[in-house]
Amino acid sequence: MTHRFFIPPKWLTPPTVTLCGDIARQVKTVLRLRPGDDIIVLDNSGMEWQVRLTKFDHDVVEGQIISQQSAQGEPSLHLTLYQGTLKGQKFEWVLQKGTELGVSCFVPTICQRSIVNRVGALTGKYSRWQQIIREAAEQSRRGKLPQLESPMSLADAIQYARSTPLIVMPWEEAATLTLKEVLAREQSGAVAIFIGPEGGFTPEEATLVQEAGGLVVKLGPRILRAETAGLAVCAAILYQRGEWD
Ligand code: SAH
Repeated sequence: MTHRFFIPPKWLTPPTVTLCGDIARQVKTVLRLRPGDDIIVLDNSGMEWQVRLTKFDHDVVEGQIISQQSAQGEPSLHLTLYQGTLKGQKFEWVLQKGTELGVSCFVPTICQRSIVNRVGALTGKYSRWQQIIREAAEQSRRGKLPQLESPMSLADAIQYARSTPLIVMPWEEAATLTLKEVLAREQSGAVAIFIGPEGGFTPEEATLVQEAGGLVVKLGPRILRAETAGLAVCAAILYQRGEWD
């Protein structure tokens, strides 16, 4: 398996690439790669560049680009996961697994029943969250880093989602429409998914999303935990759109 690294685009100066800082250290000291070894670098454009390492200096590694192609792991569908805030490691788990599955944007969403509801407590974790996303994107062969938005209230998140052609809100108390029915008739290239926090959505929150054109759906007879529900919906949509073929 060829190691993959997201790099700042300015490091890419065809036909050469210059790696610095932590990535150079990882290549040299952690992975113990040598001149002649190949790596793949990603400039977050959706392209991947195969690079042969040529020169190891003190804290810089250089390579030659030998080929380029569009990254195969990037989904053709743009999914935004508005995830009700979760305690501790559960949110990190959603970021990691959501990136592997093919989520393109995560929005931590503060709801009425959110236990974690202080913006400051959430923003303090951003650099760690970015790192989790980057490592998951490298491992799962994505070509673009999923975007991580600042935490928003549900009302702001609904505004942010307004231009998305399909908005779904799984709500265990919704009696009629199923996700399957919605997906059978909607083929839009972008989907916004609203998932409640541990305590679920309130009826007023469901009304707010519906007023913005969102479809309230049920996911079958079992109640999934908040950290399971969003990932399960993403997997179902991607499967239905042929992203698992
Ligand atoms: N507190 C609630 C469950 C909340 S589950 C209870 O204990 O009854 C957290 C979120 O996952 C919900 O807000 C909803 O968005 C989603 N969810 C989980 N299971 C679901 C189902 N069967 N149908 C629709 N949405 C579901």
